[in-house]
Amino acid sequence: MSQTPTRADFDRYMVPNYAPQKAIPVRGEGSRLWDQEGCEYIDFAGGIAVNSLGHCHPVLVEALTAQASRLWHLSNVYTNEPALALARCLVERTFADKVYLCSSGGEANEAALKLARRWAHDRHGEHKHRIVSFAQSFHGRTFFTVSVGGQPKYSAGFGPVPGGIVHGEYNNLDSVRDLIDDDTCAVMVEPIQGEGGIVPATPEFLQGLRELCDAHDALLIFDEVQTGAGRTGSLYAYQQYGVTPDILTSAKSLGGGIPVGAMLATDAVAGVFTLGTHGSTYGGNPLASAVALAAVEFIDTPEVLAGVTQRHDLIREHLEAINRKHGVFREVRGMGLLIGAEMAPDYEGRAKDILPLALEEGLMALIAGPNVLRLAPSLVIPEADIAEGMARLERAVARLVAAQ
Ligand SMILES: *Cc1c(COP(=O)(O)O)cnc(C)c1O
Repeated sequence: MSQTPTRADFDRYMVPNYAPQKAIPVRGEGSRLWDQEGCEYIDFAGGIAVNSLGHCHPVLVEALTAQASRLWHLSNVYTNEPALALARCLVERTFADKVYLCSSGGEANEAALKLARRWAHDRHGEHKHRIVSFAQSFHGRTFFTVSVGGQPKYSAGFGPVPGGIVHGEYNNLDSVRDLIDDDTCAVMVEPIQGEGGIVPATPEFLQGLRELCDAHDALLIFDEVQTGAGRTGSLYAYQQYGVTPDILTSAKSLGGGIPVGAMLATDAVAGVFTLGTHGSTYGGNPLASAVALAAVEFIDTPEVLAGVTQRHDLIREHLEAINRKHGVFREVRGMGLLIGAEMAPDYEGRAKDILPLALEEGLMALIAGPNVLRLAPSLVIPEADIAEGMARLERAVARLVAAQ
């Protein structure tokens, strides 16, 4: 047998595009994890808003193992029952008429952008190809999606970027009025900017985008990769905003940990993806689809969604209590279990310094940019784990303050 892998093997064998923490988790149950040394952690990170039902939830384990002994993969030369059931489930619960399944958020957005371009091309001609996106937005790491994303550092140094992409200012409709015209094919926006710092859109902003898109016959694309699948307290955030997009993308929480993505669209738009226009070997894979179906059916119930909102209130109270004592945060914001705490001016850019301290206290958390502490725990995290995790967070914050 080979030796047990260590953190040093990362530096030795893996492309150095990440800098993972020292501890290597080996087991998870609910909202707790254990590393190679047996140290225990409470998980407020949720695999970056992915582990929507925590670790190894019995409902997902059952869906995975039942499918694992039946059928794993077919390719798109055949269809399969789990993919069809997942597509039907998403159509029945959203605005969408049609679903395209894939394996990640970036792929779902790539499909959405290609669909919008192709729709405008077929309907209006080559000239209608402009895409409006926003500064600080994040849409994935394929070359098209980083180019549409509003963080130029992610597309720099990779050669010529795809043309026809412009960036407005988030929550500023006037900036969009200056950019949008009849050559615009789509506006792509996150209802809450996730990687950009947990910044919720105002309802007027999303409503205004809808009206501007309608006025210019452009498609409105909501990137709900981070906000979707129950994360904000409704199945999708658009349902709370009351603004309906033409295309919506979902991944992360959708699979509860299995790699899966989905692009949802109306009939009017979806129809331009005809035979051979787009595809993916793994998209709609039975194994991933079976798990995602179980996750959505479990999450999209009044009890689970109400629980997300209750947990939001509880976490917010804890964060505000920590802040009354230590004064490290300027603002707490977000929806459901996608919560950001922006650092106070005295701690500008220091959110990342909390993470290793929290880990030493037995808590996994996240940041969203250098200045925002981000929490995205399981949608069903027990209240006792929230209380214990917050006690650990407070100890980490106290150490940050003491070292200041
Ligand atoms: C994470 C994320 C993506 C990219 O998803 P991947 O699965 O990493 O490709 C796209 N958009 C948003 C809003 C995200 O948060």
